[in-house]
Amino acid sequence: MGDGGHTDVIVIGAGFSGLYALHRLRSRGFSVQVLEQADGVGGTWYWNRYPGARCDSESYYYCYSFDPELEQEWRWSERYPGQEEIRGYLEHVADRYDLRRDIAFGVRVERAERDGEGWTVTAADGSSRRCRWLVTAVGCLSTANVPDIPGLEDFAGEWHHTGHWPHDGVDVRGRRVGVVGTGSTGIQAIPVLAAAAGHLTVFQRTANYSIPARNAPLSEEEMAATKADYPAIRRVQQGSTNGHPFVLSDVDVLDLPADRRRALYEQAWERGGLRFRAAVKDVLTDPEVNADTSEFIRAKIRETVHDPATAELLTPRDHPFATKRPPIDTHYFETYNRPNVSLVDVKADPIAAVTASGLRLESGAEHPLDVLVFATGFDALTGPLLSFDIVGRDGVSLRETWHDGPHTHLGLGVAGFPDLFTITGPGSPSVLTNMPTAIEQHVDWIADLLERLRTTGEVAEPTPEAEAAWAAEVARAADATLLPQAASSWYLGANVPGKARVFLPYAGGYARYRATCDDEAAAGYPGFGLGAIRTNLANRHAV
Ligand code: NAP
Repeated sequence: MGDGGHTDVIVIGAGFSGLYALHRLRSRGFSVQVLEQADGVGGTWYWNRYPGARCDSESYYYCYSFDPELEQEWRWSERYPGQEEIRGYLEHVADRYDLRRDIAFGVRVERAERDGEGWTVTAADGSSRRCRWLVTAVGCLSTANVPDIPGLEDFAGEWHHTGHWPHDGVDVRGRRVGVVGTGSTGIQAIPVLAAAAGHLTVFQRTANYSIPARNAPLSEEEMAATKADYPAIRRVQQGSTNGHPFVLSDVDVLDLPADRRRALYEQAWERGGLRFRAAVKDVLTDPEVNADTSEFIRAKIRETVHDPATAELLTPRDHPFATKRPPIDTHYFETYNRPNVSLVDVKADPIAAVTASGLRLESGAEHPLDVLVFATGFDALTGPLLSFDIVGRDGVSLRETWHDGPHTHLGLGVAGFPDLFTITGPGSPSVLTNMPTAIEQHVDWIADLLERLRTTGEVAEPTPEAEAAWAAEVARAADATLLPQAASSWYLGANVPGKARVFLPYAGGYARYRATCDDEAAAGYPGFGLGAIRTNLANRHAV
């Protein structure tokens, strides 16, 4: 296939980050080509169409903040936006800012190679395009992790990973459905599948803490109040740990008398969602506080689930609350009181094989199924970047460079890969924050740097020293929390066999991270191989 042309920038992906990158960079006068493998915009919200798919950030802040007019004109219908509504929002954004004309849909990138002064990007259809700057907007949770279970190809029923759910849905009515996985996805899908299936069997390896979401329609009054308050909401987000507009509690729960402590937890439980975590000061840093909070949630599970043996199996005991990404739910634990739902402990009796008729466990127990659902998560953060070949300076591939785990400077760039920028890459706060907030900060920062590079003709490439210092800071930040204690967490890469165990996101907080990025820019980007001397030269050229 012929040459697909040359633009200043190629952006890979048309989800939240790719769309905003296109808009921002185009508005700064760059020519931009976005390449998207799907036939529509949305990224993770294009693919994750499983029953119950919904965001666990609240709608009024799980959205862009860059344009106050957009904030005012969009009307969210529920406290937490469902998959279809988010996709509708992103389609609206694509239309409103006339983004589609610079997006090539159905183009799956296979290779991006540093080539002289720029990058050559080659797609599966053989077409190639060139650019000076390459920006990856491939998401953090977009490479499905399907367990390698023998016999899957023999299964006579249908099987699906939740991240690749068929667009016309799956009819589970009256059928025997099995779900493997009880992370955020499984916990959302299980109640919805249970309501329709003939019988639902949940294959659980690790019990999970989950907080009620308390989803509800948003009234006109609530939306109006939010819209009036947006400037203040955005200020709180920018100064926060997670990019959420919550003020973290300053109450030491362990200093409270028992009745007031109980009241605090109960109130947070009733309010629901990720605000629960924000209501408990130091829950991610103080083991005693965490143990107390974890015990409160365990008691809630016992209260909710009628059968004591099932309740015990659903009770997490092997990791502290919120050290794995805390799911939020709608009637998850209640679902196990339904007569058509059963729970199977596949830690005690692991899955041995998929057979033609269902799942077989190591004990020999057989579970006949018509539909098998893998809610088994993703090869997070690094998976999307390593799912195609990125070849940098001197012909070295990113796969080789990261064979012992990712190293980046600020999660934004990689030594050996000049003029490559990774939106919400490993080493950035990404999945520990509200994603649109993290994305806007990254894109704005990259846009500023590209403006400088356009003026000066410099090339930006992280120095190995800057990468090493940042890796130390990422490790320090994680170790200052309880997060590394969840041994099987995808934050650590532990969910993918053979993946290096490195704490992947930056846990030092969004506000601190943003300040670090701002300092890097103010100093003239020394960690990207640019410097004060070059800045002065650049200024002379610019004058
Ligand atoms: P996940 O958190 O990685 O959970 C995967 C589940 O599958 C775990 O229960 C895991 O058990 C189990 N599993 C994996 N391989 C298995 C095997 N071979 N045998 C048995 N069980 C196996 O994945 P996820 O639920 O898709 O969530 C990933 C992330 O996506 C979330 O943490 C969140 O950040 C994001 N997400 C967000 C939303 C939202 O906004 N509402 C919804 C869904 C997902 P172990 O724990 O034992 O490994």
